[in-house]
Amino acid sequence: MARAEPAYTCSPPPLYTPRPNPRRQAGLSSDCGQTALTHFDVVIIGGGASGLMCALTAGQRGRRVLVLDGSNKIGKKILMSGGGRCNFTNLFIEPECFLSANPHFCISALDRYTQWDFIALVEKHRIPYHERKHGELFCNESAKDILAMLVDECEQAKVRIQTHCEIQAVAASDKPGQRFVIRSNKGEFSASSLVVATGGLSIPTMGASGLGYELARQFGLKVLPTRAGLVPFMFSDAFKAVSERLSGLAVDVVLGTDKKSFSENVLFTHRGLSGPAALQLSNYWQVGEPIAVDLLPGLELPAWLKQQKKEHPRSLLRTQLAPLLAKSLVQELQTLFWLPWAETALAEIPDAALLAIAEGLGRWRLKPSGTEGYRTAEVTLGGVDTQELSSRTMESKAQPGLYFIGEVVDVTGHLGGFNFQWAWASGHAAGEVV
Ligand SMILES: Cc1cc2nc3c(=O)[nH]c(=O)nc-3n(C[C@H](O)[C@H](O)[C@H](O)COP(=O)(O)OP(=O)(O)OC[C@H]3O[C@@H](n4cnc5c(N)ncnc54)[C@H](O)[C@@H]3O)c2cc1C
Repeated sequence: MARAEPAYTCSPPPLYTPRPNPRRQAGLSSDCGQTALTHFDVVIIGGGASGLMCALTAGQRGRRVLVLDGSNKIGKKILMSGGGRCNFTNLFIEPECFLSANPHFCISALDRYTQWDFIALVEKHRIPYHERKHGELFCNESAKDILAMLVDECEQAKVRIQTHCEIQAVAASDKPGQRFVIRSNKGEFSASSLVVATGGLSIPTMGASGLGYELARQFGLKVLPTRAGLVPFMFSDAFKAVSERLSGLAVDVVLGTDKKSFSENVLFTHRGLSGPAALQLSNYWQVGEPIAVDLLPGLELPAWLKQQKKEHPRSLLRTQLAPLLAKSLVQELQTLFWLPWAETALAEIPDAALLAIAEGLGRWRLKPSGTEGYRTAEVTLGGVDTQELSSRTMESKAQPGLYFIGEVVDVTGHLGGFNFQWAWASGHAAGEVV
């Protein structure tokens, strides 16, 4: 089946041109002060992964849905995800792969809209995909396919999508059926249900904003502190020069803190450490904490070094390591851990020195100065406190009709398609009830 290029903007809603109003310039306010409103059953702020899933689900139920997005295009993060191929879900979705102050919160939504449901949608649209390591599913061709699929479903469900939409004020209303009034540069809208799907703070150039957190606070919901997640580590000590010299080299390692470790690939960069192991660990890392790299996972290093000494007494240590690690890395390790023994035959290196070398190779302790932050982070940790929301519907317990979905909520997945699955599942949970 031939697929058309995605139309990123569906037909816009009838626009209302407001009279000049000085209050329009204000930030979020609880006073919308306009009378001519376009009413929708559901207004969704944010046309990303979760917002579009919520929109199509609600639209399929016959709800009149409007999606408002501040960007020039919807779904920008979908398009840039997975290196342009969108790692849209994972075969092994488990609650343990999500971080939240309440680790149980995600279970209900993830159980009711599973990876198999999303895969069925992808297959219905005949999007070719493949599995990579650890159950990660990627498009064969392009992330555009996933966005086109969501837009297509939205169009079929008669969802309206408005881009370039600057939200100026949101207020609760006591008129029957009009619980919320949303004022924007594209007109004023009222809605029975308001869904906040504005995502996190990562990659501000892709339209990220703090609006979702501001709205949560405006309506009295607690917002837990946010920080960048799935983000490379940076260094300001001597390791910075080492990583610069090794920049571009990827190694299979176990990377961990005292509490959590990941067996994955690490990538040296000119700023520090990236690659899956570093990104995964960044979700768990606290500022100031050291991290440790096992460069030869699976090898019992003290025993292995003693064995090399016995079997290759005239050999140099770097020669024995050459088949296992890149030459450039061995050179750096030699400078760090056995420079005095660099030209000494293994037989002449005392066992105590070999033990210290084993410790260096198996527990190379590094101290990141920080992470690259929201500029390059894939996700935002923290956000709207899940204690404030129903885990079944994502509705605010305090403000009926107000919903928070996706990354703006304090639920963050591991690398590997988990964050999209949370976006689909939470979007679907809200879409079924709004
Ligand atoms: C580079 C990169 C690669 C990634 N790759 C993957 C991957 O392969 N697999 C995976 O599972 N996850 C991946 N992620 C994470 C994933 O993209 C997010 O977790 C997911 O998009 C969150 O969905 P969301 O709907 O909550 O937010 P988003 O998809 O970010 O959507 C939020 C929407 O809200 C709009 N918005 C924001 N502020 C406003 C405002 N003030 N007014 C109006 N609209 C607003 C934005 O324009 C945007 O369209 C990646 C992230 C990045 C940055």
